[in-house]
Amino acid sequence: MPRSRFYQSVSQYFKKAARHSTHPAGVLEQVRVCNATYRMQFPVREDDGTVRVVEAFRAEHSYHRLPTKGGIRFSKHVNLDETVALASLMTYKCALVGVPFGGAKGGVRVDPAQISDGFRERVTRRYTAELIRKNFIGPDIDVPAPDYGTGEREMGWIVDTCKNINMNAAATYASVTGKPLSMQGIAGRTEATGLGVYYGIRSACDAPELMNPLGLIPGMAGKRFIVQGLGKVGYYTAKFMTEDGKAILAGVAEREGALYHKDGMDLEAIVKHRQKTGSLEGFPGGEFIADRMAILEYPCDILVPAALEGQITTANADRIQAKIIAEAANGPVESDAEKILLARKVLILPDLFLNAGGVTVSYFEWLKNRAGVSFDRMTARHEELTKQQMIGAMEQLSGTRLPADEASRVLARPNERTLVLAALEQTMLRAFDTLCAFQHERKVEDLRTASFLFAIERVADSYRHHGIFP
Ligand code: GLU
Repeated sequence: MPRSRFYQSVSQYFKKAARHSTHPAGVLEQVRVCNATYRMQFPVREDDGTVRVVEAFRAEHSYHRLPTKGGIRFSKHVNLDETVALASLMTYKCALVGVPFGGAKGGVRVDPAQISDGFRERVTRRYTAELIRKNFIGPDIDVPAPDYGTGEREMGWIVDTCKNINMNAAATYASVTGKPLSMQGIAGRTEATGLGVYYGIRSACDAPELMNPLGLIPGMAGKRFIVQGLGKVGYYTAKFMTEDGKAILAGVAEREGALYHKDGMDLEAIVKHRQKTGSLEGFPGGEFIADRMAILEYPCDILVPAALEGQITTANADRIQAKIIAEAANGPVESDAEKILLARKVLILPDLFLNAGGVTVSYFEWLKNRAGVSFDRMTARHEELTKQQMIGAMEQLSGTRLPADEASRVLARPNERTLVLAALEQTMLRAFDTLCAFQHERKVEDLRTASFLFAIERVADSYRHHGIFP
């Protein structure tokens, strides 16, 4: 059977990078292949009592580390090839940012915009039961999370189903991440991917060696961007880019069309308008464009595809005007399109690096659930007391008192959110520096090849150290 375009595209990226590796072909083949897939079809009752058969998948790409990890996608386009390709991206993404998991992905073939809440719950619970039956879920086995079309509500149903079937209560919470806070989720997970994308773009914008060749002034402030998709990832990316980064939101694309204004638009006003009217159309602050794909070709500095794969292809690559493409989604640029873009000197910040913030904070959530205690609980008071002592000693030495507002700022206790987001920032900054240094050291032509190669080397090393290969 011919493989899907997306699968082929990921394979091309892998091959291009693997050529630079010194590992033997057999090891590289083991790093490339998907270790296990589970395709299922099960009946779910519709609201009117009729039965619909739903097709779904789970792919566990790499067992070099356990558990495997990756989101569950609800989309009418889900298929086995797509699930496998996305699972492989998870393996490489985790290896790149030092999250000690293998990659996995799940897909349920339903249209998230067309199903009722009741059907959504029944399908989620039945899918979970299928995973449990085949041992495709568990804190040390495979840990799902949200992806396109799912969120914390679905993750809550998954935990509940696990709890009710056959897992012991203590382990259950670490079986899935992206849970609601009230079900032992972690503060900061909702915005983690978008915030990570922002940190990644900010790092690139702050690097003169990346901006100068593009003819751009270093710094994010004042740069125009277009975001495709106002889901969690797109929304939070745009929010942090405008509020913290002082970038200008010039364009937004969603299912029904797009909005553009070269001088910038107010993100919250757009979201409010869309909630009220169900569409971007009629928003007073920008021009409505009915062709949602056309906006990708509008003038801007940074294009942020934050929806699905395969958005930039050979059909539109030569008309993209952005100087930077920031891959907030998984796989938005096809490999043949990338060739065109690289020849045109467009800077591509690859998904493996850029959207790794989500799984990074999922890792923190998993650790919290394994430990059974939140990160701030054990340290917050101790830190406060230590800081009080330090301030006291400094005041004694200098003979002056620290102004009250300054003292309370220094003394502020870190809560879970502060700790999680600081660790996320640290992870993204370190990954960026590592990636740039690695690209330089291994003399590879672009950041995507560097990301894939870095990940391939890590996973291959791990297989060899396990003694699986000589
Ligand atoms: N679905 C997200 C991704 O593609 C997050 C996965 C996770 O947190 O496990 O990276």
